[in-house]
Amino acid sequence: MADKAILFDSSKCIACRACQVACKQWWELPAVSTTNQGTYENPPDLSPETWNRIKFKEIRRDGTMTWLFTRQACMHCTKAACVWVCPSYARGYDKQGIVTIDAERCIGCGRCVEYCPFDIPRLGKNDVSPRLTVQLGAPRKVVYKCKLCEDRIEDGRAPACAKTCPSGAIQFGERADLITLGRTRAGALKGTSPKARLYGETELGGLHALYVLLEDPGAHGLPDDPRLGTYPDFDENTFPAWYIQALDSGKFAVFPPEARREWYMQPNLVPVPGPPEPEWPVRVAMAPPGWTGPALWGWFGAGIIGACAALSWTVRRRSMLANQNKKP
Ligand code: SF4
Ligand code: SF4
Ligand code: SF4
Repeated sequence: MADKAILFDSSKCIACRACQVACKQWWELPAVSTTNQGTYENPPDLSPETWNRIKFKEIRRDGTMTWLFTRQACMHCTKAACVWVCPSYARGYDKQGIVTIDAERCIGCGRCVEYCPFDIPRLGKNDVSPRLTVQLGAPRKVVYKCKLCEDRIEDGRAPACAKTCPSGAIQFGERADLITLGRTRAGALKGTSPKARLYGETELGGLHALYVLLEDPGAHGLPDDPRLGTYPDFDENTFPAWYIQALDSGKFAVFPPEARREWYMQPNLVPVPGPPEPEWPVRVAMAPPGWTGPALWGWFGAGIIGACAALSWTVRRRSMLANQNKKP
């Protein structure tokens, strides 16, 4: 099945925030009380209850102040750091490239929060929405982020934010079609916004949230060159008891520890040529030191020389004593 995606066009966004409301409405996420931060931007950050928000930035263009509006939500990366680092295999991909979370498997360790290059997932109590309760290990913390309205897509409908957007700033469709559309739109904007470009076509193997940007990514609060980071191995002894019980009782499949999560969970994924992979922790156990170790060869050589010297000294000494004994 062809990959689906969202195209956000910052030149068309009027910051009405209908997409924020639609997201909350569809997923039954509660409103959160906030205070005025001296800006129209609200809420001030993503949270377990807010998976999509519009960032407001004031920029100066041709001597006048203007707004730059940017959607902040999960990018549904093809090479998703959150999938790589999740020790409990709660993260994965669906057949349309959407990055999913299995809340039942989530142990709330927060590694995906730490390693997401776009600072998207947020940890919160497992009861923020009546639609998203978990059974195993409840109550506990689990991670939240945009789900690309996977249930609506399954139903042949557009995600709630795309359906609601009154200005056409969020479009949903086949990723390949949206890339063509985004390129054309960015090209058309270059006359008035020379830095206009399509973002997300190749970043991290290709994002499933594509952006038409008016300025450099940094001005929109996006990394110029998002990358997977390196990460330390997870200490398997810290898995909570309910998780171990679920594995033992066969509720969860056990994944081989050496599995490269990305390829394991999305078998049809074709690696995209690009910058070299970062150095991952070496998972293959190092061979124990043996005869081939350079240090051992050094000690061995020194031992041989020492033994020869001792032997030669002993022979010479004995022959000297023998000569002395022969003297009348
Ligand atoms: S944006 Fe972050 S949370 Fe979303 S898929 Fe990429 S790495 Fe995962
Ligand atoms: S795709 Fe769905 S879950 Fe994601 S931001 Fe839009 S409405 Fe929210
Ligand atoms: S609904 Fe559309 S126009 Fe309104 S804030 Fe969201 S993306 Fe912008």
